Amino acid sequence: MIIILFGAPGVGKGTQAVILAEKLGVAHLSTGDAFRAAIKNQTPVGQLAQEYVSAGKLVPDDIVAKIVEEAMTNEAFANGCILDGFPRTRAQAEALEGMLSAKGAEISKVVNIAVDDSTIIARLLQRGRADDQEEIIRHRLNVYNDETAPLLDFYGGKGLLTTIDGIGEVDDVNTRILAAIQA
Ligand code: ADP
Repeated sequence: MIIILFGAPGVGKGTQAVILAEKLGVAHLSTGDAFRAAIKNQTPVGQLAQEYVSAGKLVPDDIVAKIVEEAMTNEAFANGCILDGFPRTRAQAEALEGMLSAKGAEISKVVNIAVDDSTIIARLLQRGRADDQEEIIRHRLNVYNDETAPLLDFYGGKGLLTTIDGIGEVDDVNTRILAAIQA
């Protein structure tokens, strides 16, 4: 089972992905977490990604593909996975199709978590991660709108997309996501 959790920064993908991975017994891959760990450990990928992550820019697609391919070889991924923060560009979506078809796997569902921008900004300011400063948040939202949101049409066209309301208690949002997956 391959589930893509989709949505703007701050809609709660990370929180929901952890819960879903546990409930469904599949792995969780957050490319944002993977980059933060690589940066912390100053690996070669981390050194390349650093400037992009801190500026709220997208890490170049070839570097992203590397980190995803590496994660997918982990046997924890044999049962499937929740993808959180990937793909974010059309090129990444196409790279994912290539990786999956090489394994004879396919995307089960894309769940888009919808939250309005002012709620997102308030949530992220409260979270206060290094890249959660208002100007960088606005930049990340612009990048999302320009580069990532167009994938909604891409996955909608394939009949894989369900949009759920991301406002409310964590458990309630989780119930909506599970219903979307099981529909
Ligand atoms: P958020 O969704 O709140 O912005 P993430 O933890 O998902 O947070 O991502 C943090 C940063 O990591 C992004 O702003 C970007 O620099 C980088 N990043 C994560 N995933 C990707 C990706 N698929 N493609 C390019 N850059 C990415």
